[in-house]
Amino acid sequence: MDLLDWIRAIFMKEKMKRTNVILFGPPGSGKGTQAQKLVEKYSLLHISTGDLFRYEIGNETPLGLKAKEYMNKGHLVPDEVTIGMLKNKVEANPEVKGFIFDGFPRTIPQAQALDSFLHSKGEEVSALVALEVEDNEIVSRLLKRGETSGRVDDQNEEVIRNRIKVYSEETSVVYDHYSKSNKSQTVNGLGTIEEIFSRLSKVFDQID
Ligand code: AMP
Repeated sequence: MDLLDWIRAIFMKEKMKRTNVILFGPPGSGKGTQAQKLVEKYSLLHISTGDLFRYEIGNETPLGLKAKEYMNKGHLVPDEVTIGMLKNKVEANPEVKGFIFDGFPRTIPQAQALDSFLHSKGEEVSALVALEVEDNEIVSRLLKRGETSGRVDDQNEEVIRNRIKVYSEETSVVYDHYSKSNKSQTVNGLGTIEEIFSRLSKVFDQID
């Protein structure tokens, strides 16, 4: 390889490097709202596994019917189903600059699957950004959202408490998983939408 090829190879690699951010935090921490604003500002694609499942449920697909049973109780949909669906969505969008993953990964096996999937494509998770909101605030936010969202899982306090329990028992460890490679960061999730967006933007501006 001569010098010119070498420079070209480095340039191509840089050019193709995508930004893959996990927007993390408990249910009701504002991930969906903030993701919508962030994708616009940073030209990334928003992938919410919850939204993908709700789309499948709306279309009454076999995947949707399977997911619905778990979702309505506030349980996690099994990893293999979720991981397969996520990979399909990523594969279907080869041209985008990167992704904001919202609601995924939610377990260590999902995080490991995401890492090896991205590695197989010469990519990696760029950062995990966690919105911090305490439990009682989450419960009141979700019950309020349930009045208008039509989401069964937002309308029952027991189901909400179960989702919070699942988050602390199975999902919060995903933060530690990415801390090992210094990729995890926390942002205060209290305040107005604009205040939180400005905090997140400061973090996103530093992600390369
Ligand atoms: P969300 O919209 O992110 O709050 O997700 C709503 C529900 O969808 C969750 O309570 C789970 O039942 C299911 N779900 C969404 N993402 C995942 C995931 N990564 N793994 C397993 N279940 C998920």
